[in-house]
Amino acid sequence: MSFKNITAIILFIIAFFIQSACFAANFQVRDLVLDNSDKTVLIRGKGDFRDSSTGVYVPVPDKSNSLNLINNITTFTLSNPAGYVIDIPNSTLPEGSRYYKLKNSKIVNRIDLLQHDTDIVRIVFTLNNAKDLPNFKTYSDGKNIIVKYNSQLVQNSIQHKFYTLSGDMDKSAVVQNTATDIIFNSNNYKLEIIPKLQNKYYLSLVTQNSEGLILKGIGEISLQKIKYYDNNTRAEIILDSSNIIPTLENKTYNIPGAVKNTKATLTINKLNDKKIKLTILGESLKDYRAVISPDNQSLFISHRSHVLNTSFALNNAKLLSYNLTKNENGYYIFDLNFDKSVAYDIFELNDSYYLDINNLPDFDEIALKKLLKNSDLNIQTMKISKDKTRYIIPSKNLNFSYANVESNAKSIKLCFKEKPQAEKINEDAIIIASKEEKIAAAGKIPEEDALSKDKNYKKDESKSGNINVVYVPKEDNSKIIYKEPKKKKPESTTISALKKVVLDPGHGGTDCGAIGGGVVYEKNLNLKVAKMVEEKLKKKNVHVYMTRSEDIFIPLEDRVNFSNEISPDIYVSIHANSTVQNVTYGLEVHYYKDDSLELANTMHAIFSSDKNLKKWDTKDRGVIKSRFYVINHTEAPSVLMEMGFISNPVEREKLMTKQRQEEVATAIADGILEYLKVK
Ligand SMILES: [Zn+2]
Repeated sequence: MSFKNITAIILFIIAFFIQSACFAANFQVRDLVLDNSDKTVLIRGKGDFRDSSTGVYVPVPDKSNSLNLINNITTFTLSNPAGYVIDIPNSTLPEGSRYYKLKNSKIVNRIDLLQHDTDIVRIVFTLNNAKDLPNFKTYSDGKNIIVKYNSQLVQNSIQHKFYTLSGDMDKSAVVQNTATDIIFNSNNYKLEIIPKLQNKYYLSLVTQNSEGLILKGIGEISLQKIKYYDNNTRAEIILDSSNIIPTLENKTYNIPGAVKNTKATLTINKLNDKKIKLTILGESLKDYRAVISPDNQSLFISHRSHVLNTSFALNNAKLLSYNLTKNENGYYIFDLNFDKSVAYDIFELNDSYYLDINNLPDFDEIALKKLLKNSDLNIQTMKISKDKTRYIIPSKNLNFSYANVESNAKSIKLCFKEKPQAEKINEDAIIIASKEEKIAAAGKIPEEDALSKDKNYKKDESKSGNINVVYVPKEDNSKIIYKEPKKKKPESTTISALKKVVLDPGHGGTDCGAIGGGVVYEKNLNLKVAKMVEEKLKKKNVHVYMTRSEDIFIPLEDRVNFSNEISPDIYVSIHANSTVQNVTYGLEVHYYKDDSLELANTMHAIFSSDKNLKKWDTKDRGVIKSRFYVINHTEAPSVLMEMGFISNPVEREKLMTKQRQEEVATAIADGILEYLKVK
């Protein structure tokens, strides 16, 4: 053997070891992100499972910069029960095997996460029905893995302008399905998590055409109302229940098609794991629209002139029905139903709400007139182009509450509430400096714009909020021109009218909670005190929503969903404590999420004040970080109050008195009011 050969062999061995080293598992499967859309699952991990050294990773060429498919993930299907299996190479499952039971899914029964081999994590979707198997597709870029299992809505009525993640992809690019039938043995995995479905939307791609930006993703977009700041030079759109591909974070894009000599940009930020913020900077931003595609998966952001001329769907929708209801609490619900999914946008301008349906050529004027005949709600309708219909709802006396769009975008519910009387009075009493009054009286420009366009004035940031804008003359900061409600009543009246609190009396129905001394049921005590808190808050004009008002069983998930739909300012769960050692007594305040700590501390300071501890002859057991389901899963800042131990005979006795219950309720209500800054 020549020296040359030996060198070659050594090099080969070194190369082999390098390669082996590279082969080591370097992707950790952490978690699943499940969403309410029941269409997708994101497999979240850390690291990278692509193996560059072996060249196993071959990205499928793709014209756009969308997620590429990798072909070193193996997928196959199972029968009896029907299953879809993904094997991720070079990966580990640090937190061990487990399965997720999907209570809310019509398609997936459970998802198993297994360390199948030392460096392969296997994920098994067990389906309710084998007919759904062909819909399962896996996409990945080597770091993020998305499994999409319901494409039905996506393929429906979308024009090419609105691609979806799957729409962008060549059919042949789908991960190869080897479709082997294997009977999979799914014993022996411990049950760990029954997850609440977390995110509805995963933003994964931004593209553009000559007219605007298109944000694409999977799941369902749910938008908060667009908010405008700084004389319409900054607009913010919050996408709820959304997450984002890391490469899009903090990116800024020019919005094409801005009107002459202007420029507009869009910046994407992740606010937290559940919210994405889109910030638009430019001029006259109220002229920009955010249109949601019929499949709810894309957002087209563009100047309104382009929106008018763009076709958003292959098929125009036909109106099936209108419905208008008003309930005793002053809520109007205006309900529109269509035969096909619609592309729509909602915006607010000059004291009116606008709903534009961008693929609806006919709005059935007769039906609408009939509907509104006996109603005090005035809805105007018009065609704004060949295939677009606009609904205008004057909002002078109304607060826009929400737009609820069904996942198939065939039904839109607009909810309005009559403004409380107090606000109406204040509105009439707006003081405007005479100069502005004249401009406003001319009726051409709305007040805010009049001031914002006046070169002699500038906005005073320190005094302006979301609702009121305060302008000051540019030369003299001391002379403040107010454009804010006159404070006839204490400020709290108007502020508290906007505050929402969800109160959650723990347990109920068949779930008794703790049972003290064999006779005292925690559920009953919780409800009594919660109702007292409710009364006290209502007196301060706080909107209170009770997860239950009677002795019924409500699953924790439902309590959480209830709250998340309302999206209150805070969520307060009320409980009484219990332990086997009947000498234990005292008060506890529990929180879990970091954004709940301030609430917990505020509640604690009042609830467990020295005065209360003395009066109640009890002790403070502190603010405790606990992973209770409800305070972990509600989106609002949330706390769980333990008002004492009913397992302790002495404390139980006291807690059974009406006086103590009233005092506890007062302390809880005061804590809430303090946190909400309601006086
Ligand atoms: Zn309890």
